[in-house]
Amino acid sequence: MNNCIFCKIAKKEIPADILIDDVDFLVFKDINPKAPVHFLIIPKKHLGSVDALTLQDLEIIGKLILKAKSVAELSGVSKSGYRLIFNIGKDAGVEVNHLHLHFLAGKPLNFNF
Ligand code: 5GP
Ligand code: ZN
Repeated sequence: MNNCIFCKIAKKEIPADILIDDVDFLVFKDINPKAPVHFLIIPKKHLGSVDALTLQDLEIIGKLILKAKSVAELSGVSKSGYRLIFNIGKDAGVEVNHLHLHFLAGKPLNFNF
């Protein structure tokens, strides 16, 4: 996708604070963190929101969620806990139309995300 900011981050065309850089996935810090630990987990391949997924994307979406477990281990919050969020569409306040999973942790999380 030409004008997608997360595609540009995946291709290292713009910088990000990267935690995990796999063949298929990238994990980086959210530029505007909503919790002490706030990462974004993305597939390097451009996919739209959850709403655009099909059965063909099962493997990638499964691996994306499993990646959160690695993020928890690396950031030391496996025991204290974490929250995973997918935003979909206008009412969820989506800013970036490249599939991403929010990883939030580091304090007791209320629901006023
Ligand atoms: P959304 O609301 O679309 O689910 O979340 C998009 C997230 O991407 C927001 O939390 C926002 O702070 C983050 N974000 C937007 N642009 C950039 C960027 O250029 N770099 C990084 N690291 N995060 C970004
Ligand atoms: Zn993209």
